[in-house]
Amino acid sequence: MNAPPLSASKKCPHCGQWSGHQQRPDDRCEHCHELLDPQGPRKEAEMKQAWKWEMPQIMLITIHPTDPWPLRMLKYAVRGGQMLFIATLSFIIWVVTVLAG
Ligand SMILES: [Zn+2]
Repeated sequence: MNAPPLSASKKCPHCGQWSGHQQRPDDRCEHCHELLDPQGPRKEAEMKQAWKWEMPQIMLITIHPTDPWPLRMLKYAVRGGQMLFIATLSFIIWVVTVLAG
């Protein structure tokens, strides 16, 4: 019987040994020091790319405490719409990433 597949262990695709890992994309095998998930760093880079692309959208509108309340209400409504838009985009990106990965 092989070593039990504990949640904190992963079978190394390079040497076939069980190795502890921290669920990080760049975790390396304890035995041969190869990447436990060869696709990990690429996936992480894609996630960072997605965030860079989304951040300017979040910063589109700012609500100042000094704004009169009708303007603040309007801005909250606009920002709510933006958030919904970003959430929809994020979901699409996620689906594309999962299907492509
Ligand atoms: Zn290994």
